[in-house]
Amino acid sequence: MTSTKIPNIKLNSGFYMPVIGYGTFNSFKENEVRNAARVALEVGYRHIDTAWVYKTEEELGDAITQKIKDGLFERSDLFLASKLWNTHHRPESVEEMCRDSLTSLRTDYLDLYLIHWPFAIKAGEIDGRKPHDDVDFIDTWKAMEELVIKGLVKTIGVSNFNIQQLKRLLAADLRYKPAVNQVEVHPYYTNNELLDYCKQENIVVTAYSPLGRGGTDSSGPGKSLNVHEDKTIQKIATKYNKTTAQIVIRWGIDRGYTLVPKSVTPARIKQNIEIFDFSLTEEEVKTISNLNQDFKCVHLNQYKDYPEYPF
Ligand code: NAP
Repeated sequence: MTSTKIPNIKLNSGFYMPVIGYGTFNSFKENEVRNAARVALEVGYRHIDTAWVYKTEEELGDAITQKIKDGLFERSDLFLASKLWNTHHRPESVEEMCRDSLTSLRTDYLDLYLIHWPFAIKAGEIDGRKPHDDVDFIDTWKAMEELVIKGLVKTIGVSNFNIQQLKRLLAADLRYKPAVNQVEVHPYYTNNELLDYCKQENIVVTAYSPLGRGGTDSSGPGKSLNVHEDKTIQKIATKYNKTTAQIVIRWGIDRGYTLVPKSVTPARIKQNIEIFDFSLTEEEVKTISNLNQDFKCVHLNQYKDYPEYPF
């Protein structure tokens, strides 16, 4: 199988991250993510995005261990990212949670560890949601810094943080600045203001749901938008003899951020990184950006009234 070399971007921690990672959310059948991750590693992905809450870490650990054993790459060639779940923001829980991810992934360090959401919740459910936990993310961040000092994690960052939350974090007395903010970005949710702010602060943005979940999510305001059915994107795809997914991923790269598309389909896993043999014109980047409709796929609406809910 041919393999694609994915370029790196330098993080403010001094480490390098491949600009496309393999996304691993969510609801997989047994063995599905193990098999798909093997394909991803074979075709050239060297950045894997997971999270404790996805319940994919064990199968990923198997796939990675096997491929290292096969001699495909060494652990140091891989950029492994996971996330601290909202039930474990209390500083005394952070290391335990990180170690849990390390054990499942069968590695002794993470390349990147993110605070998954800015708000904290308690375990156990009342009326279909977990109760709010009054933990300031600054305190959680300090515990994340300890992980770097202990060598459990190379780089730390955040996810789903808005501009005000980033400003408050950056204003605190930090040992390490957040290197990454992983947030939703796709043609129907271009997230321009946040992207500009992160660029100004030298925080690398990673786009999640970069394909807008292909229109499979209908939790938005009564509509479901599908990038693959978009006439503008289809026209540009025809011009370059690429798929709509490849155009959308290339658009992200040409706007200067990193992305973690998810697929369990071998042909799609492969095509989603075969985007380094062309680039879009400035005009085409603008045309796709103009498709924005502020249409988000990810909400966690049940926590809307919690302090630090970010949207
Ligand atoms: P996505 O990557 O935008 O879309 C995934 C969907 O697109 C799947 O249904 C997949 O189908 C399909 N697809 C993938 N490649 C395709 C192609 N080339 N052509 C046509 N369809 C294609 O959505 P996502 O899974 O929500 O986001 C990606 C990753 O971001 C996640 O896996 C996770 O790692 C991360 N994420 C993070 C957060 C956060 O809070 N930090 C939230 C959401 C997601 P098949 O799998 O059937 O091929």
